[in-house]
Amino acid sequence: MTRPAPARIPKAKPQPPDGTTARGDVATLRMERNCSVARTLDIVSDAWAFLIIREAFFGTQTFEAFRSALGIPRATLADRLKKLTGLAIFRQVATGASQRKEYRLTEMGLDLYSSFTALMQFGDRWLAGDQPPPLILVHMVCGCESRPIVACSACGERIHLKEVTYRDGPGAGRHPAKPGRNTRRVSDASRFLLGRPSSVSRALQIIGDKWSFMVMREAFLGNCRYDKIQTELAIAPNILTDRLSRLVGFGVLYRRLYQHAPDRYEYRLTEMGKDLFGSFVAMQHWGDRWLSGGKPPVLLEHLTCGHDFHGSVICDQCRQPIVAADMQYKLAYDPKTFGALGPRSVS
Ligand SMILES: [Zn+2]
Ligand SMILES: [Zn+2]
Repeated sequence: MTRPAPARIPKAKPQPPDGTTARGDVATLRMERNCSVARTLDIVSDAWAFLIIREAFFGTQTFEAFRSALGIPRATLADRLKKLTGLAIFRQVATGASQRKEYRLTEMGLDLYSSFTALMQFGDRWLAGDQPPPLILVHMVCGCESRPIVACSACGERIHLKEVTYRDGPGAGRHPAKPGRNTRRVSDASRFLLGRPSSVSRALQIIGDKWSFMVMREAFLGNCRYDKIQTELAIAPNILTDRLSRLVGFGVLYRRLYQHAPDRYEYRLTEMGKDLFGSFVAMQHWGDRWLSGGKPPVLLEHLTCGHDFHGSVICDQCRQPIVAADMQYKLAYDPKTFGALGPRSVS
């Protein structure tokens, strides 16, 4: 089955907001494709923000409990909790006689659980090394140990990259890249591994870096040659070279010679790289649902059933959707090593 070329989005000519030219800034303004996965990753690829949300899924609710679980500096924790509350991922509640402030995940925050679960399954499959996965999920709906999968919302079958086609949605287009957002150093990535062992952290080490994520997205769209990726992303050659070799190093892309004299290589997805697609589809659904204002930038069609769909994270045993309140955990590590948190249900 061949995948049609992705819809071409004409590059808008960047205009200064007031029609004047601001000291040549306009010439360097880079336009980014509207993308619900990028919007989702903008939130969870901040390592501290991700770690705080993850601890909340383990039942952490107070400032001091977050602090002791993560060893995070007070000012940083206060900053991230404020941002995440502003984004409506958390809400504050006052509890008890002392009216102590606690943080609770909102419906929007709780809904991130399925994206985390998809990333966790990817991490379990490819990044656990010789260790058992850090966490075993028990689905209380069916009582089984569950390895959730990303399925088509229309037919319920597991999603594979080669069976999906795309077209522009009502929110398609480009927007100016936020200055400074794309220059984040990859060295940040090691922070994801703080705290408890986590397959989600390991997966975010690969795609939590914005440029690495965008290169992977181009690969999913079928763009695998250097020049093509460079044009699509308007990315500096040294950064693109760096991210390609990083992604090859992680094992999600491989180099393939496609032309001799001069030798030229293209970058193809490995089986591991293709397996990351399900997580993208799950994150896309979250971004479409909560951050697109009802206008998804991209619509997905499942060629197997012929229907438009979104990624639905379901239990591999009973095929019911995975929601945070239905899950319990068995830890494959000693929780005492990672703060005071023990295994508990999220509910
Ligand atoms: Zn389907
Ligand atoms: Zn189940």
